[in-house]
Amino acid sequence: MDTLLRSHNGFGLPHPLQFHGSGKKNQVSSLLPLVFPSVDSRFHETKISVNPTKTKCTTTSGLFDLVPETKKENLYVDIPLYDPSQSVTFDLVIVGCGPAGLTVAQNVSEAGLSVCCIDPAPKLIWPNNYGVWIDEFKALDLLDCLDTTWSGAVVHIDDDTQKNLDRPYGRVNRKHLKSKVMKKCISNEVTFHEAKVLNVVHEESKSFVKCNDGVTVEARVVLDATGFSKRLVEYDKPYNPGYQVAYGILAEVEEHPFEVDKMLFMDWRDSHLKHNKQLNQRNSRIPTFLYAMPFSSNRIFLEETSLVARPGLGIEDIQQRMEARLKHLGINVKYIEEDEVCVIPMGGVLPVLPQRTLGIGGTAGMVHPSTGYMVARTLATAPLIAQSIVNYLNCWEQGRGGGGGDSLSAKVWRDLWPVERRRQREFFCFGMDVLLKLDLEGTRRFFDAFFELEPHYWHGFLSSRLFLPELFSFGLSLFAHASNTSKLEIMAKGTLPLINMSGNLLRDRD
Ligand SMILES: Cc1cc2nc3c(=O)[nH]c(=O)nc-3n(C[C@H](O)[C@H](O)[C@H](O)COP(=O)(O)OP(=O)(O)OC[C@H]3O[C@@H](n4cnc5c(N)ncnc54)[C@H](O)[C@@H]3O)c2cc1C
Repeated sequence: MDTLLRSHNGFGLPHPLQFHGSGKKNQVSSLLPLVFPSVDSRFHETKISVNPTKTKCTTTSGLFDLVPETKKENLYVDIPLYDPSQSVTFDLVIVGCGPAGLTVAQNVSEAGLSVCCIDPAPKLIWPNNYGVWIDEFKALDLLDCLDTTWSGAVVHIDDDTQKNLDRPYGRVNRKHLKSKVMKKCISNEVTFHEAKVLNVVHEESKSFVKCNDGVTVEARVVLDATGFSKRLVEYDKPYNPGYQVAYGILAEVEEHPFEVDKMLFMDWRDSHLKHNKQLNQRNSRIPTFLYAMPFSSNRIFLEETSLVARPGLGIEDIQQRMEARLKHLGINVKYIEEDEVCVIPMGGVLPVLPQRTLGIGGTAGMVHPSTGYMVARTLATAPLIAQSIVNYLNCWEQGRGGGGGDSLSAKVWRDLWPVERRRQREFFCFGMDVLLKLDLEGTRRFFDAFFELEPHYWHGFLSSRLFLPELFSFGLSLFAHASNTSKLEIMAKGTLPLINMSGNLLRDRD
C-alpha cells in the first residue's frame, strides 16, 4: 500500500519507508464516552479517565462500527536491553520513548554519554497522526520524514468566506521518523528497559528510577518525557488547562469535495447542523471545526476538532457533529483504516521550576497553549536540552559547577524555560483564555482577522517564533484587522485575561 506516499505540491520528497496501512488504533478510541479530567486537589495532577465499558457511539449510519479493532505496530529493530544484574549508573535515564524522549536520547548519546530509555513499549510506532508546517520540518532537516505534503491550506470561516493559506503543510511519517531516531540511538549504544516507571527517588549525586517490574535503574540525571501523563514532574499549583479534543478517522470514501493539493486546516461551516437544533445550539456555544488531509480522491484523514474548551468536549458529542457534517458533505465512508482520539491539555500552569527531575515535551508544558501543536517545537528543543545536559554533566564530572544534581537540574530547567519563553507562553495562554470565551460567531470573527495578518505574524504565532515585545505588535495588528464587532468583543472578553497576563508577566522575573 503506497497511497500515502505522495506529494501534491511537486516537492518531490523522498519517501524511504512504506506506510503499512492502519498500524494502530488509539488505545482508548472505542472506550466511549470520554469522562473528562478531574483535578486531584492533593497532587494537582490531572487524570484523564475513560469509561472502561466498550460502548460505541450510537449512530444511525453505523459509521463508527467501521472502526477496526486495536492493531499496534512495532518497529522491526533489535534494541539493546538493560541487564538489571549489572550494577550500572547511567549518565541519563529518560522515561518515555515519544518524540521528545527519544530525540534527547539520540543527542545525549551522540556526545558519548550513557543513556537508558524506559518505556512499556519502546518499539511501538508512535500512534498520533502528526501534521506540521513544512517550513518547520525544513528547518529541522526532516523533510524526508513527511509522507504527504500539500502546497497550501484552506480555512472556511463560513459558507461565504474562504481563506487560502499560502503555507505548505505536511503529514509526518511517524514510522520513518521513529525508525530514524531509534536507529541512531541504537548505534550510539542507548540501552532500553521495557517497563512502566512508578516513581523516582533522588539522592545528592544519584537518582533511583523504580519500575513496575521491580527493577530500579540508577542515573545521575533523570528526564521525564512521559507526555501528558506527566508521570514524574511535580506541580505545586492547581493544574487548570483547557482541552483540545478531537476525533479523527483515516478513511476510504466514495468521494469527497476537497481539493487534493490543499489540506483543510479549519472548516467552521455549520450548515450541516441546520436541521438539528440541539447540536446546532451546542456548536454555537462551543464550536468544532473539521481538519482534513486529503491523500487522494477517495482516501482522506478527517478530524472533527474542538480547538479548546474547559472542560473539554465529550468525544460522543464530537462524533455526532462529525457524522452530521460528513453526511451533509456527501462523504460516504466505505472503510476506516484507523481512528484517533485526541485529548491535549493546553496552557495551565507550568511544573515547579526548577525541580530535580527534568522534563521535556508534553510533561514540561511545551504544547502551544493556543493551538495544541507541539511536535516541531519539541524536536527543535530536544537537541538544545541534550546539549545543556551534556555540558553541565561534563562540568560536574570535572568538579566544576558544584552543587550536585539539584544544581544541574536547575540550570537545565532554566535553559528549557528561559524568561523569554515563559513570557511567550504567558502570551499564548492569554490567547487561549480569549479563545475559551468565544462562541462560534466570535471564533469566526477571530480567525477571519487572524489569517488576514502578515504571514510573518500568523506563521510566527503558530510556530512559536514570536517573542515579546513582537507579540504585542502581533496583538495590535490583530486588533487593527478585526471588525468593529470583534474589537468590542476582544475588549469585553479579553480585558480580564489581559490583566491576568500582565500580572503574571510582572511577577515572573528572572
Ligand atoms: C492524538 C494526538 C494528535 C496530535 N497531533 C499533533 C499534531 O498533528 N501536531 C503537533 O504538533 N502536535 C500534535 N499533538 C501534540 C503533541 O505533539 C503530541 O502529544 C506528542 O506526541 C507529545 O510528545 P511527547 O514525546 O512529549 O509525549 P508522547 O508522544 O505522549 O510520549 C510519551 C511516552 O511516554 C511513555 N510513558 C508514559 N508513561 C510512562 C511511564 N510511567 N513509564 C514509562 N514510560 C511512560 C509512553 O508510552 C510514550 O511512549 C497530538 C497529540 C495527540 C494526543
